[in-house]
Amino acid sequence: MKFDCHMHSFRSGDSINLPKTIIHKAKEKKVSIAITDHNSIRSWKELTSLGQKAGVQVIPGEEIMTFDETNQKITGELIGLFLNELVKSGYYMEVIDSMREQDALIVVPHPFDFLRNNFFSLKKEWKKVDCIESFNSRCYSDSFNAKAKAFAELHGIPQTAGSDAHFPEEIGSAFLEVPKADSLEDARKLMKKGKNSVQGKRSSVMVHVKTFFAKKGFFKPKNY
Ligand SMILES: [Zn+2]
Repeated sequence: MKFDCHMHSFRSGDSINLPKTIIHKAKEKKVSIAITDHNSIRSWKELTSLGQKAGVQVIPGEEIMTFDETNQKITGELIGLFLNELVKSGYYMEVIDSMREQDALIVVPHPFDFLRNNFFSLKKEWKKVDCIESFNSRCYSDSFNAKAKAFAELHGIPQTAGSDAHFPEEIGSAFLEVPKADSLEDARKLMKKGKNSVQGKRSSVMVHVKTFFAKKGFFKPKNY
């Protein structure tokens, strides 16, 4: 099974992806997906039911903004995969605990991309997470992904990959492959043990320009 483990729907506010477009593109690219909207799980239901019809597996996830309890500053984003319910944005230890209670897979997205909301406390807290995203197609430089991969290998941390798609053309540009998985539950167990490989290509920097305009409310979908 192949999974693009990081992408957004329009419910993230900075993406234009409609659920039906995500499933259509995923099918075309022959990948299953994890939906990881920013602090929202509102697309889970629709994507799961559309995915069932199309034969695209959907991992319910979320990309959550976290803060440091001591200085109240942003600590960066964490991703929960295989969640059962919403995890509220908050202090990072509370977010980690809340994901752990749900037996979710805790992933650190784009950990060395300092131009985005990378999780600053990784070096201190890496034992508390399950996986590191060692390929994110939206990283501004290959070196950020290379650093993530090296860090994961050094500490023996399993790796994931994702397009971080905010636009349809990005879907499937990075993915992980779990060769022995037949079901989502199999995939979860194998990913936790790092029994998967990671592949991807970087997106054009133009996707960041488009995201800037999406945040301003351009391209807002109608009828939702
Ligand atoms: Zn993201």
